[in-house]
Amino acid sequence: MTRTWAPVPADSGFGLANLPYGVFAPPGEPPRCGVRIGDHVLDLAAALGDDGFAAPSLNAFLARGRTAWTQTRNRIVDLLTDTSHEPRLTPHLYPVGDVVLQMPFGVADYVDFYASEHHAGNIGRMFRPDAAPLLPNWKHLPVGYHGRAGTVVVSGTPVVRPCGQRKAPSAAAPTFGPSAKLDVEVEVGFVVGASSELGRPVPVSRFAEHVFGVVLVNDWSARDIQAWEYVPLGPFLGKSFATTVSPWVVPLDALAAARVPRPPQDPAPLEYLAEEAWALDLDLALEVNGQVLSRPPYTRMYWSPAQMLAHMTVNGASLRTGDLYASGTVSGPEREQRGSLIELTWNGTEPLTLEDGSTRTFLADGDTVTISGTAPTADGGRISLGEVTGRVEPAVDG
Ligand code: CA
Repeated sequence: MTRTWAPVPADSGFGLANLPYGVFAPPGEPPRCGVRIGDHVLDLAAALGDDGFAAPSLNAFLARGRTAWTQTRNRIVDLLTDTSHEPRLTPHLYPVGDVVLQMPFGVADYVDFYASEHHAGNIGRMFRPDAAPLLPNWKHLPVGYHGRAGTVVVSGTPVVRPCGQRKAPSAAAPTFGPSAKLDVEVEVGFVVGASSELGRPVPVSRFAEHVFGVVLVNDWSARDIQAWEYVPLGPFLGKSFATTVSPWVVPLDALAAARVPRPPQDPAPLEYLAEEAWALDLDLALEVNGQVLSRPPYTRMYWSPAQMLAHMTVNGASLRTGDLYASGTVSGPEREQRGSLIELTWNGTEPLTLEDGSTRTFLADGDTVTISGTAPTADGGRISLGEVTGRVEPAVDG
């Protein structure tokens, strides 16, 4: 690939092949949109002379659609490779360590799927040991639920341990108090740019027309609250207190080399979900207090992002700019590939010992959780998806 005049460290995952978008605030200045190159952020409104990027949200840009997204990316590559632009643009490059990264887009609706067969299978084995691990619908449709858009927060936002109702199976009645089973879910989120018309499903073939890019997601989950409330209508307060996303939206244009084939789905899905099976070759890592606990592989996901999108709209539900849908917990077949503590500790029955000698079943107050990820490039390198991090703060009440 062509070289950039901008400073990019040798092993940076943020070279020209990546160019993710975010919202940043320089010290004492209002937030605006930028693109990351190396360890710097380029102010896009200034660089492109485009006021659409002066807002503290990518939504105006996301709404423009695929042609504009690709043109903008090409223009940014031109600006960063043609040295004639260096004198004018250098004042608009900010060290990433000097700026505050904010929520990159306004979330319209938030949906969370359940697309990993290994995750769904593990949960099934834990909670329904005498039945088949997967429920009868699982291989016929991407199971999902609508989450809470207003509590999707950017990486670095503290997460207060939620309080709620819990009831142990042996207890006669529920009690109220701080969750004792606060967990994480390693997920990948898909950011919708171009909207769709109410009443018109979006077919799998039009995925790239509507989806702009991806973020990393931590779907914080209070397992004890969830276990008591979820029947019959699904996740509610055990999930809605916080969902954290990474600050950089990596465009699909940067992930072309990450698209990999998957074995055909069996049974073959219904016609509206039919496509050649594929996944994204994203290597994810889950860390607690700096220690890697697992490395979930996105290549093993059963349902593709295009199938999730098609399913989400097949009833005619329309898409809005800023819609976010997440994959569900990413888990592979191996123990060290499980993307949640409930799986890693088998619902608390197999505690983990951390390097400091302490043990965990679920998260303790003060724990810092970080999810990171990388994807391959066409030339054999890897780009970074950045990271999504959050520290657990003690419950406010209870
Ligand atoms: Ca989830």
